[in-house]
Amino acid sequence: MSRIVHLNGRYLPEDEAKVSVFDRGYLFADGVYEVTAVIDGKLIDFGPHMDRLSRSLGELDMAWPVARDHLREVHEDLIERNGLREGRVYMQVTRGVSERDFAYPTDVSSTLLAFTQAARVTADPKAEAGVKAISIPDIRWKRRDIKSIALLAQCMGKQKAAEAGAYEAWMYEDGYVTEGTSSTSYIVADGCIVTRGLSNVVLPGVTRLAIMRLAAERGMALEERPFTLEEAYASEEAFLTSASALVLPVVEIDGRSIGDGRPGPVARRLRALYLEAALDGSSASMPVDKIRARGD
Ligand code: PLP
Repeated sequence: MSRIVHLNGRYLPEDEAKVSVFDRGYLFADGVYEVTAVIDGKLIDFGPHMDRLSRSLGELDMAWPVARDHLREVHEDLIERNGLREGRVYMQVTRGVSERDFAYPTDVSSTLLAFTQAARVTADPKAEAGVKAISIPDIRWKRRDIKSIALLAQCMGKQKAAEAGAYEAWMYEDGYVTEGTSSTSYIVADGCIVTRGLSNVVLPGVTRLAIMRLAAERGMALEERPFTLEEAYASEEAFLTSASALVLPVVEIDGRSIGDGRPGPVARRLRALYLEAALDGSSASMPVDKIRARGD
């Protein structure tokens, strides 16, 4: 059965949804996106996803395609029309269709596309086994705080990971890990959860926001600072978070076992806490104004 997707106010079978070849998303990757997890037919952490979308749009002087409340309805309609119980909703906004010219056109309306993807989220076997990661240099642009649809560097990284039999590639720059190609990176060192602070060097993860809040509420030790690959190799635990993967233990990096090579207690606990909170419907808002322009 073909999916029903949303394109510019219309719900269409996926093979009938068509976008112009002059769409700036196609020509320039001039667009932004969000991916929201769906569990039990419900959107998880939708508020902070919309906070981040608002910031991404604002940084690029791009208009909201529809009102924020209406965007929620679009997501919920897609879940219902496609009978989605578990997986995610992908949505992207591009600047729209215009003659090819680099500077932003003024007389253009944005293109909104959204679709569902069914996937195992809660009973993910990767959470039980843990995943492997490799490391690669971070060759991305410098505004990684914007959730841009320009993802070629991430595609190259994921391809390298796949070729190495790994799930994720952790990127490093100036001697420090930045993040995964599609996830936030963490280690546990001396019992403390360590992840990079928010700046234009990394994407402000919505799952990161939730995990940090849950860990802080439980009095778990947390530190926001850059860490090196050597620290990661020597760490007690490593893990990653994203809306698609939630929390996944990383049990091997560059062929080196992390800790005892099995999912550790901190990652397991955070995954359980996250699932519990997600199903409760509690979520924080994204403090997008706290993202510093540079540095950590
Ligand atoms: N970092 C990058 C580069 C990502 O692409 C993603 C998700 O796609 C994340 C981090 C995790 O963000 P979130 O938790 O909002 O999915």
